[in-house]
Amino acid sequence: MATTTIPNLWIILILFIVFITSVFSFTVYRVQMYTFFRNSYLCAKFQTMTVTEILNKVGPSTLRQAQDSGTFTHEEIKLLLAAEGEDKKLLFDKALQTKLAHLDNYVHLRGLIEYSNICTKYCLYCGVRCKNLKVERYMLSDEEVIECAKLAHELGYGSVALQSGERSDKTFVDKITYLVKEIKKIDNGSLGITLSLGEQTEETYRRWFEAGAHRYLLRIEASNEDLYYKIHPHDEKHDFHQRLACIDSLLKVGYQTGTGVMVGLPFQTLDDLADDLLFFKQKDVAMVGMGPFIPHPDTPLWQYRDQIPSTKERMQLTLKMIAILRLMMPEINMVAATANQTVDPQGREKAILAGANVIMPNLTPNEFRENYLIYPDKACVKDKPDECQSCLDMRLAAIGHKVLYNAWGDSVAFTKKNNKN
Ligand code: SAM
Repeated sequence: MATTTIPNLWIILILFIVFITSVFSFTVYRVQMYTFFRNSYLCAKFQTMTVTEILNKVGPSTLRQAQDSGTFTHEEIKLLLAAEGEDKKLLFDKALQTKLAHLDNYVHLRGLIEYSNICTKYCLYCGVRCKNLKVERYMLSDEEVIECAKLAHELGYGSVALQSGERSDKTFVDKITYLVKEIKKIDNGSLGITLSLGEQTEETYRRWFEAGAHRYLLRIEASNEDLYYKIHPHDEKHDFHQRLACIDSLLKVGYQTGTGVMVGLPFQTLDDLADDLLFFKQKDVAMVGMGPFIPHPDTPLWQYRDQIPSTKERMQLTLKMIAILRLMMPEINMVAATANQTVDPQGREKAILAGANVIMPNLTPNEFRENYLIYPDKACVKDKPDECQSCLDMRLAAIGHKVLYNAWGDSVAFTKKNNKN
């Protein structure tokens, strides 16, 4: 009896194990099959979605109400970034319509004062990085800055933008506080002030805000941390999380906060660019500046100049980024960066037609401009401010736009959000 019972028990145990394994495998298989079919369905659905269909998500209500602003998925943004021919034209048309519906055909000016090219950083793309010993360093005198600001006021620009290489020592912080206060004295505070002076402590941002600056531009440069460290050294002076924290501080202090990226960087993918746009939306910034990356021969990224998209492609990608963002954030201010004009003589106008609404004519005294070459062959380096202005008026009129003179030209998105709170 005993000799027959033991094998039977073994057989039952083996059958039990086989049964459990089969049930488990079948369940795993079913989950895998479900995932496979679901993904295939989604993939097919996405691939058959045309740019027109994606753009139709931005319906007529978006043109009237900022609250309904278009939100695109990562995949949709990538498809829009790849749009060509009729699709691309449709994208630009829709972005222009959206801008005109929300912001009219006005362009706001910021008289750009390139205060100093003295910089403590060594970003791998920037011509004025401190390790570029070929650059002759300068700092404008107080009088020169005030003269530039007065000129901006006389020309009716309404606002100035003070930009500089990055320093955060006490002398610099005090000097900027003083200059902001002095600019504010011109015609009883009639000039708006944008600062673009890099990473600072929250306390410094607050000091400058209290002195009278109310807009601040700090491009994230690349919202993907891995890419960030391919275009910056990875050290305590170039810390991705620090840069993010600075953007948060600016928002907290109450600035109309602007950020942005360079387009067409080495190692940058369409996924990165799509994420950059989603980053701006998620941060709910008031302003964005994006321009094509332009390799500088005296920087480490120069070695990758043959591995980036062509100049024309970088320009087109920048325009698509501007257009898509205009659909996603209809009421923010967007700069038609000088870099656009540097790579294409019509670049600034093209950016305006793609959805940008701010231009920063250079008011830096001509003798210093040659030394603020963050990239080579910068546009308008030799222009005189008054020539620049009449030329700008004509160029804008030719594309159905006009300058809104004597106004700060604040971000409508910011103003509405502030009024609500
Ligand atoms: N130091 C400040 C900062 O970091 O925000 C402001 C000055 S920084 C020179 C101004 C902007 O120039 C940067 O945010 C960067 O996007 C842009 N830039 C620098 N080098 C560039 C290049 N080679 N091509 C295109 N844009 C460049």
